[in-house]
Amino acid sequence: MTSSRYDILFEKVKIGPVTAPNRFYQVPHCNGMGHRFPRSLAKMRGIKAEGGWGVVCTEEVEIHPSSDITPYNQGRLWDDSDIGNLRLMTDAVHEHGSLAGIELVYQGLAGKNHYSRLPTLGPTHASVAGGYPMQARAMNKRDIKELRKWYRDAAIRSKKAGFDIVYTYAGHGLSVLMHFLSRQHNDRTDEYGGSLENRARLLKEVLIDTKEAVGDTCAVALRIAVDELLGKNGIQASGEGSDIIEMLAEIPDLWDVNVSSWENDSQTSRFSSEGFQEQYTKHVKSLTSKPVVGVGRFTSPDTMVSQIKRGVLDLIGAARPSIADPFLPNKIKNDKLDTIRECIGCNICVSSDNYAAPIRCTQNPTMGEEWRRDWHPEKIKPKHDDASILIVGTGPAGLECAHALANRGYDIVMAEKKSVAGGRVLLESRLPGLSEWKRVMDYRLNALQQMPNVEIYYESEVTPENLDEFGFENIIVATGSTWKNNGQGRDGRQELKTDGSIKILTPDDLMNGVEPEGEVLIYDTDHYYMAGVLANKCLDLGNQVTYMSPANRVSDWTENTLEQQRIQSQLMNKGVKLSLNQNLLEIIDKQVVSGCVYSSMESRTSCKTLVLVTERTPNDSLYTAIESQQPFKHFALIGDAYAPGIIAQAVHSGHLEAQVFGDKNPNKNVFKRDKGYNPA
Ligand code: ADP
Ligand code: SF4
Repeated sequence: MTSSRYDILFEKVKIGPVTAPNRFYQVPHCNGMGHRFPRSLAKMRGIKAEGGWGVVCTEEVEIHPSSDITPYNQGRLWDDSDIGNLRLMTDAVHEHGSLAGIELVYQGLAGKNHYSRLPTLGPTHASVAGGYPMQARAMNKRDIKELRKWYRDAAIRSKKAGFDIVYTYAGHGLSVLMHFLSRQHNDRTDEYGGSLENRARLLKEVLIDTKEAVGDTCAVALRIAVDELLGKNGIQASGEGSDIIEMLAEIPDLWDVNVSSWENDSQTSRFSSEGFQEQYTKHVKSLTSKPVVGVGRFTSPDTMVSQIKRGVLDLIGAARPSIADPFLPNKIKNDKLDTIRECIGCNICVSSDNYAAPIRCTQNPTMGEEWRRDWHPEKIKPKHDDASILIVGTGPAGLECAHALANRGYDIVMAEKKSVAGGRVLLESRLPGLSEWKRVMDYRLNALQQMPNVEIYYESEVTPENLDEFGFENIIVATGSTWKNNGQGRDGRQELKTDGSIKILTPDDLMNGVEPEGEVLIYDTDHYYMAGVLANKCLDLGNQVTYMSPANRVSDWTENTLEQQRIQSQLMNKGVKLSLNQNLLEIIDKQVVSGCVYSSMESRTSCKTLVLVTERTPNDSLYTAIESQQPFKHFALIGDAYAPGIIAQAVHSGHLEAQVFGDKNPNKNVFKRDKGYNPA
């Protein structure tokens, strides 16, 4: 039963000619599946509807080959032959009584057409985005007329595919309609350039065309960036952003509001907290009588209710919270708040899209596996017999494995050598900016503590010698990994030569409370978040910090989680010295000797402490010892103890082990291959 204070979230909302069954709105989000993996996509979207999302939208859907987003796997609706793919999704969403929305896009200056090889079209003769060496052609009037027809045709096809909401998209810097709007991109002198009214003309025309084409049965939504967070150089909510909303206020049936670019819209928890877009959403809401959907990594039902009651928005928009927990709405409805798997705001989901690979999620290991492995976020096959299982280690891999196996009905005993659970995720969540990551542990531990078939023993180190005392036939080892202190890593297999004049620490040392002395040099060949957050930690402890890396940027890989720019700016603004393009060579006489990756020219940097953020060693000695000690019925090695990686990988590894446990021929390598839609 619904707690009455959340009833407001389950009110219906009329959106033009259609009605959303509640206020939970999965806004368009990329997923790396798109037109290439349509069955996977449809199943994933359908599960969101099953979990209570009243509206479930697509990702960007290309409307024409002259705006093809290759290599990214987005939706495609170039002609009628693409309808079948999308019909799979609308059927899956409608099966649960939800509405299906489609985000039509013509990328303009953001499109490179690697597949179609057609020229890119935009408002102006200008370079395309992303550093690709190619320019777009400025559209003439005939091109504009054709573009409007492409949008109209795509809207009609969307209706044929069964969509209830059709988007006109002008957000994230990814749509030609936004490029026309922006003074930065549009220097035309005809009626489509110059004044704001002129620059907004194409957007208005497409919006009206779409309404005329499908507005009798489909709602028409406008997704727009009300601020680009570029100050005077971009659209600002305090200026043209508001003027555009006022100009078009009552034309769309729904406003889907965000800030651009994607880096600003999908900020990680390291840089923003829940509801961070409130001021922008609220502002748009004050300018229109039409329903407004806004986002902000909402996972707390109290925050959601508050936003609605305070008139910030009408519909709770979510991409990431719906990925981490496709059943979030139903859990609120059924008063199961403590079972919500809250998004941790890490953007690993985004990184998959950036790799053009099917989506994955740190919190939800079933994400992207719904069709190909038949995994469901809330249901799992029952146990095959009355086996009891010992799981060694309570990090993300062990906790996820235990949770999934306990849900299957097995009796589980967990042994943890420390006095607390959580492994790396507990330690890392205590580092600056990562507190929300603790949710990975909290969600699982909370569930396990309430299950009668689970026991957790702390301060219980399992060794090859004492293993027999536990008396288990089934053993899963999730003992994690240890950061190396010998300098070996991605950018060099050789061990660091040192005369011992500088103290060497690892991330494990710092996370376990060892304090660095004096000036600290952090050497990063991991390239993800660790070195950057440790720099912050050392600054907080009062040390001066130098960040050194063979990469030419700080925390290079975080480009994929949309954080790189923010991380580098933050460290530079806090006074961290950067020493980029440097390979660590040796330690001599209280100095770190490094060599330029391009010229090999040597430099020396003085410091008292060197922190090596390089590579980890799997803690697999228990496993390798028992591997030879038969008879065990089943034994497995999972998570970082198998191969160190990101937390998402450890969670997935734990879940995969739980899924195959008890199978006659357990085989983790087998999954269905989505070979596309075949109308025949
Ligand atoms: P993962 O990411 O693979 O889950 P973690 O490093 O986060 O790995 O967690 C491993 C956990 O296992 C830690 O909590 C650690 O204390 C625990 N652990 C490691 N070795 C043993 C052992 N021999 N017996 C019991 N617990 C162990
Ligand atoms: Fe949230 Fe991270 Fe999952 Fe993305 S990957 S939905 S940010 S928990």
